[in-house]
Formats: sequence, structure tokens, C-alpha cells
Amino acid sequence: MESRRRFLEQVSLSSLGLIALPNLFNQDKKLNVALVGLGRYAGYLAEGIAASKYCKLSGIVTGTPAKEKEWAAKYNIPQKNIYNYKNFEKIANNPDIDLVYVVLPNALHAEFAIKAAKAKKHVIVEKPMAISATECQAIIDACIQNKVQLAVGYRLHFEPYNMEMMRLGQEKVLGEVRYVDASLGYKIDFENPNDWHIKKALSGGGPLTNLGVYSIQAARYITGLEPVSVTAQFSPVSRPNLFKEVEEAITWQLKFKNNAVATCTCSYSYGIDRLYASAENGFFELSPAISYGPFKGRSSNGEFSFPEINQQQTQMDAIAQYILSGKKLPTHISGEEGLKDLKVIDAVYKAAETGREVKI
Ligand code: NAD
Repeated sequence: MESRRRFLEQVSLSSLGLIALPNLFNQDKKLNVALVGLGRYAGYLAEGIAASKYCKLSGIVTGTPAKEKEWAAKYNIPQKNIYNYKNFEKIANNPDIDLVYVVLPNALHAEFAIKAAKAKKHVIVEKPMAISATECQAIIDACIQNKVQLAVGYRLHFEPYNMEMMRLGQEKVLGEVRYVDASLGYKIDFENPNDWHIKKALSGGGPLTNLGVYSIQAARYITGLEPVSVTAQFSPVSRPNLFKEVEEAITWQLKFKNNAVATCTCSYSYGIDRLYASAENGFFELSPAISYGPFKGRSSNGEFSFPEINQQQTQMDAIAQYILSGKKLPTHISGEEGLKDLKVIDAVYKAAETGREVKI
């Protein structure tokens, strides 16, 4: 009975063109994930994977021998599933890894995502997908050529408060959205002057690349529209000793085809974490909105609330279910989505540098 049900499910999925890959969704199979780069965010992901139903942290890739020992012991990872940045490509011969999750500084995303695709592993790459639209396209092409799935780690697409903002905006619950304010900033001291976040060659830019990508995402997922042009301004630099290579803060304005606008700000010098949308018949907002919660939501009809979730666990379980069942990942977390955001980032920098409105 069970196998008949699964067979029928497969038939209906394949008739919808959803089965592009082998169906791994059997009894107790979990998606075996290898994390590349064991820094701060990889720690959150590892905890999310440990709590997940459909994933297992089965491999790690690190350049630091001390981390190998610590992580192997903590997550019970066998030596044969541990790689460094030099021997990473050997992962191609390891059938115990299904997916590689790249959590490195932004400028290294493309190199390792492409290597993972060539090793025939599914790929998740952290945001921002890469440091230019050209690099995003190269990752997409490598995944297509090697017939593996590709996702960007857009955790907020699985987060109930942000999903409510998408619903309210895209379904025009309070009428058409005319204005979005999407801002994210943290006061960061950068005690290490060589921190990769402020080194252009590793980060690709300042807060726009790391935080601004969320504002761009939000402006797009609240309106459900693509921006057509942008104007932008770098903020004055308050700590010139730190911000020699990248901006300290930046503000930009996106214009949409229906003449809706979004104002976005991101900063490494002051804290802000909010989304606000003004629609024809009312408003809706989140603050905090983008970090790890707890979030707070309100609209002109009153407050709204949802259970707090483990965002990393929820994202990983959702992605794993798609991949294990051979279903194509949804477009809103796809490489194409990451590429769209990088096209906007490229345009924001161009607009700030030239002082002109730039078409996207
Ligand atoms: P981090 O500095 O804490 O970790 C980076 C890791 O990369 C470290 O383990 C470091 O050793 C390693 N690394 C390898 N080569 C390196 C090099 N040449 N220079 C510097 N480090 C090198 O950074 P992080 O905060 O974990 O960020 C990693 C990625 O995750 C970034 O792309 C970032 O945008 C993304 N991120 C996503 C979220 C989210 O909520 N989705 C949150 C934070 C960071």
C-alpha cells in the first residue's frame, strides 16, 4: 500500500515535470550535509541540522585542524568525511555526502559552490550568493551542467512573520503596496581590522552585500515585483580607520514598474531591524524583522503573532524534503533569485558611485 502511494506520488510529480533527480526519499534516509567553513553562522546551521528531521551533518570542510577535532567530536563526524580547502574536491568520491553548504566569506562562495557542483553534490550557498551577478550566473551554469540542485540560504522564506509580510503584500490584503521601508543595521566594533567583512576582496562590499541583500529581498517579496531602477547614497564615514575599503552605511531607493518605491538602509554603525509597508488601505510591519527573532508584527488591523521557530532547522528540513523527494527546489530560494539580488546590488553600487539613477 505504502509503495503504491509512493509510486502514485512519483507519477504525479513526474507528470508535473518535478522529478529532475533520483528520488532519495525512502524510509529513513536523511540528507547528508557537509558544511564548508566553520565560522559563526555555520555554528547556527549545525545546531539547526542537529534539530532537523530530514538532515544530518555528515561532513565538514575547514582549514583549521583544531576545529576538525572539536566538530568531529561534537557532531560525531567520521574522519573520512572531513576535508580541508585543498583536498575538498575529493568529496566527489564520497557517496556519504549528498549536499554541500557553502558558509565562507562571500568572495569564496562561487569557487566552492562550483567545485561542489562539479563533485555532483547538491549545493546551498549562503547569502549573498556571490559578489557579482556574473559569479552568480557561473554557479547556476555549473549546477545545471552537473545536474545538481542549487539553493541560496534565504532562511526568511520559511519564517512565518516574513511569510505573512509576503502574503499581505503579494495578495494585496490591504490593497496594493505603494511604499516599503526595509532596513537592517548592527553596530559592529570590528576589533580585528582585518575582519573579512571590511575587506573588499573577501566581502565584495560593506553592509550592502551582507545586510542589504535582506532589504532587497524584502522589497521584492513584499511587493512581489522586480525593481526597475535605483538611486543610492553612501552615508558619511564615522570610523575612517575601519572603513577604508567598503562603505560603513548606505541608503538606496528602488522604483518598481507600478511606481511603488522602497527605501532601504543598511549599516555597520547603528542598529536597525525593520520592515514597513504602506498599502492603499493600511500598513503592515515587522520590527524586529530580519535577525533571528523574536519578531514582532503589526498591521493597521492590529498585532499579529506566530510561534517562534528555529529558522535554520526549518530551512534545512524544507530544502531536504524537496531534494530527497526529487522535487525541484522552489524558485524563491533558487540561484535565479540570488542572481536577481546581486543584479540589484551591482546597480546600487553603481548608483551610489555615479550619483545617477541606474536601470536594473
Ligand atoms: P565567519 O567569519 O564567522 O566565518 C567564516 C569562516 O570562513 C571561518 O570559519 C573562516 O575560518 C573561514 N574562512 C576560510 N577562508 C577564509 C579566508 N580567506 N578569510 C576569512 N575566513 C575564511 O563568518 P560568518 O558570519 O559565519 O559568515 C559566513 C557566510 O555566512 C557569509 O557569506 C555571510 O554572509 C553568511 N551569513 C549568513 C547569515 C544568515 O542569517 N543567513 C548570518 C551570518 C552570516
